[in-house]
Amino acid sequence: MDTVNKRVAIVTGGGSGIGLAITEKFISGGIHTVIVGRDEKKLQAARTQLGELCYPINHDVSDLATIPSLIKKVIDKFGHIDILVNNAGINMKKDFIEITDEEFQQIITTNLCSVFSISREVVKHMLPRNSGNIINISSMAAQYGMPRVIAYSASKTAIDGMTRAMAVELSPKGIRINAIAPGFIETAMTAKALNADPERKKKAVGRTPMGHMGQPMDIADAALFLSSDAARYITGVILPVDGGNSIGF
Ligand code: NDP
Repeated sequence: MDTVNKRVAIVTGGGSGIGLAITEKFISGGIHTVIVGRDEKKLQAARTQLGELCYPINHDVSDLATIPSLIKKVIDKFGHIDILVNNAGINMKKDFIEITDEEFQQIITTNLCSVFSISREVVKHMLPRNSGNIINISSMAAQYGMPRVIAYSASKTAIDGMTRAMAVELSPKGIRINAIAPGFIETAMTAKALNADPERKKKAVGRTPMGHMGQPMDIADAALFLSSDAARYITGVILPVDGGNSIGF
């Protein structure tokens, strides 16, 4: 296959929710998109839905020691990587004092450490080409205090700091790094967190000036923009895509 002149993206967690919408957008723009997840069924369903530009890889991103082999697999197949979207993430809603060290660590490893390890391995291949694009998926939990999601909030706040630090170090070398901070978007994650907690859902929507939750495609459009040449002078930003939630009263 001729992939030399094609754009190649990796979307972690690309088999569902926001990641699937980003993958769909990229593929409609002709971008070869590798999706990474643990659930083989979800990955294959995405491949069936999106066709041959979608390349599923079954891999647990929290297994940090195996990240170099994951990225090698992509390089062996495509030769280069243009775009990385660090989207895979997990949440846990629990009272502060109920969270064990293991649970805290699991969320930090999945949402933060994997983003570092994957980015490091991908950047090694972007640097020689003086070109690349990384988008980290952050959260409103990094913009203001939310109760009962302590590990998640810690991980996403660290993502914002890492985005800025990576941007100042790597932008001079042709690699743009940005983050998207989604508001409340209708996916499996928010269904789990909000559907059994109508008060929390009311609060989330109540402080969203646009008055409703977002759709995964709202984030996908922003990701396509940030990864495109139209955003060529944008780096180091944390872009809220939230219906105004972050500035809501
Ligand atoms: P989903 O639960 O629908 O998707 C999460 C994805 O991450 C799944 O495809 C899952 O794949 C993948 N994933 C989780 N853990 C791992 C792992 N260890 N290895 C590989 N893949 C993994 O949630 P969303 O689409 O809602 O969330 C996507 C991102 O957006 C997350 O980072 C989340 O924090 C962020 N976000 C979401 C918001 C929302 O309102 N929905 C708001 C703010 C941020 P699999 O199950 O196959 O492992």
